[in-house]
Amino acid sequence: MTIRNTQGLTVWFTGLSGAGKTTLSQALEKLLMARGYRVEPLDGDVVRQHLSKGLGYSKADRDENIRRIGFVAELLTRHGVVALVSAISPYREIRDEVRRKIGAFLEIYVNAPLEVCEQRDQKGLYQRARAGEIKGFTGIDDPYQPPLAPEVECRTDLETVEESVAKVWREVEAKLAGG
Ligand code: ADP
Repeated sequence: MTIRNTQGLTVWFTGLSGAGKTTLSQALEKLLMARGYRVEPLDGDVVRQHLSKGLGYSKADRDENIRRIGFVAELLTRHGVVALVSAISPYREIRDEVRRKIGAFLEIYVNAPLEVCEQRDQKGLYQRARAGEIKGFTGIDDPYQPPLAPEVECRTDLETVEESVAKVWREVEAKLAGG
C-alpha cells in the first residue's frame, strides 16, 4: 500500500456554536480520506471530554484548551497528517499563537450571525444560556473575536454546505499541493 508522503496540515475551523464547524470538518474528512490522506479530526466537544477534561470556560481555561489542541495538531501536522480542528476558539491571540507554532495552517472562519446560530440551536445550548443556566456562553455573555485575515471565510447563513465545503477544499488542495 502506498502512503502519500505529504507534509501535514492543520485546518482550523473557528466560529460560534452552531456556525457549521463540525459539519464542514466532517465533509472535509470524507473528501481527504477518499483521496488517501491521513486525517485526524479534533472536535472541541470531544477534546473537552478527554484531553481538556476539567477545564472550564474562563479566558484562561479556554486559552489552555486551545493550546492543548494546538499542541496535538502540531504533532499530527509534523507527521504528515491533516488535522481538522473544530473548536469555537474565540480568542484571536491564542489562535494566532497556534498558527505561528504549527506553520502549515489554514484558518477557516465559519461565520453565521448569532441570530442564525441561535435559531439553529441544535444542542439547545443558546436557549439554556438565555435562560441563565449556562454562564459565559460565547456570543451571549462571552466574547468572540473574529479572525482578521482567515484563509477562507464561509458565510454559512448565505452558502449551502456544498458551497462552503468547495471553498475550503480549494484552499486545502492548494496547500497540500505545496501552495
Ligand atoms: P458547530 O460545529 O459550529 O457548532 P454544526 O456543524 O454542529 O455547528 O451545525 C451547523 C448547522 O448549520 C448544521 O445543521 C448544518 O447543516 C447547517 N448549515 C447550513 N448551511 C451550512 C454551511 N454552509 N456550512 C455548514 N453548516 C451549514
